[in-house]
This record gives sequence, structure tokens and C-alpha cells, in this order.
Amino acid sequence: MKKGFTITYEYGGNLYVNPTNRCNFNCEFCLRHNGHDGSIYTHNLWLEREPTKEEMLSSIESWDLSKYKQLVFVGFGEPSYRLEDICWVIDRLKEHGTKIFTRMDTNGTANLIHGRDVCPDFAGRFDMVSISLNTDTAEKYEALCHPVQPGAYQAMKDFAKEIQKYVPTVMMTVVDTIPPEEIENCRRICEEEIGAIYRVREYIED
Ligand code: SF4
Repeated sequence: MKKGFTITYEYGGNLYVNPTNRCNFNCEFCLRHNGHDGSIYTHNLWLEREPTKEEMLSSIESWDLSKYKQLVFVGFGEPSYRLEDICWVIDRLKEHGTKIFTRMDTNGTANLIHGRDVCPDFAGRFDMVSISLNTDTAEKYEALCHPVQPGAYQAMKDFAKEIQKYVPTVMMTVVDTIPPEEIENCRRICEEEIGAIYRVREYIED
């Protein structure tokens, strides 16, 4: 696959940051499959190397940030691999007087990736975290996402509960291609079991 060095890109009124291509999942629906290079964003999101924290900051600050609703850390991989550097970047932005709504879109397994509870690191830095719930049982989750670590479904749900202590808005998402009954089961898990905001996302064609 062709690699580039797209660190930041605009999409839907937000500015997105692409910190890593690493991921501990291999989701069946991942846009990275089949030679895709991030076509929905019209950018090549495969990185020839990960940007340093300084490169992330300078790429973000090269845009007029007053134009965007949100600064979203996501990219073509699981952004929480770069949590420490992302926190550093947000701290520098705050020091520089930048006021922008910050969000991370994540698979919700940062605590498994880092082997510790990283939720407190989000406090005062992120306005929102969006977590992919994907499905309603651990068995289906394993089959769909192929996580490296065992117990990922429960770890993701635990993270979604815990992170609410530190981040004002926590959302969990599924895509609208799953059956209606599963959508409702996921709504119950999200709203009643975890207490997060539920969103059914539209499936984006390859
Ligand atoms: S968690 Fe995201 S980046 Fe990782 S495999 Fe799944 S869809 Fe792809």
C-alpha cells in the first residue's frame, strides 16, 4: 500500500488528527482492509512513520482552528496508542490559548493497551470520547473485531463507564447495518448498563 504523511485533515467541519496506524483489533469492517487508504476522507491515511508529538502539534497549529467545531483524534488506527503524546499536544494547545472542543474516537481498550487505568489522563483534556460498541455480546464482538487481548468486550464496557468520571460527554456507537433487535440491545447496554449517549451511525460504503 502507498504511504504518506497526512497528520491532519478536514472532514465535515472538524479537524481530524491521524496519530498512528497501530491497532490491537482487526475489525471485519475496517476501512483499512482491501487496500483502502482512507478514501472517505480523500486522503491517504497510511503513515510512512508516526508523527512525533511536535509534528502533531505543528500540523494542528498550521490550520485556522477557529474554523472547526471539533479537534478529533482518530486516524487510521487506534489513537490511544499515542495517548501520552496526544495529552502533551492538548496541553501545549491550551498553553497557547487555543480554545477548541476536543474528542477522541476509540475502540475503548486504552486500559488494555497500556496495562493501567489511563482514564484520569483524559481529565481536563478531552470534551468528548466516542467509543465503538459495535455489537451486543462478547462472542459477536470477538468474531467481528478480532481483538488481540482476551476480554476486550468487557474491558471496553468498563472503560466506557469509568471514563465518564473524567470526560463530560461519552458516546457509544454502532453502525446501522446490524439487525434492529441488536440495535435495541446495544441501546440498552449503552444507556442503562453504562449510562453513555447512544448513537447509531450510518454505514459508510467502501
Ligand atoms: S478498531 Fe478501528 S482501526 Fe482498529 S481494526 Fe477496528 S475499525 Fe480498524
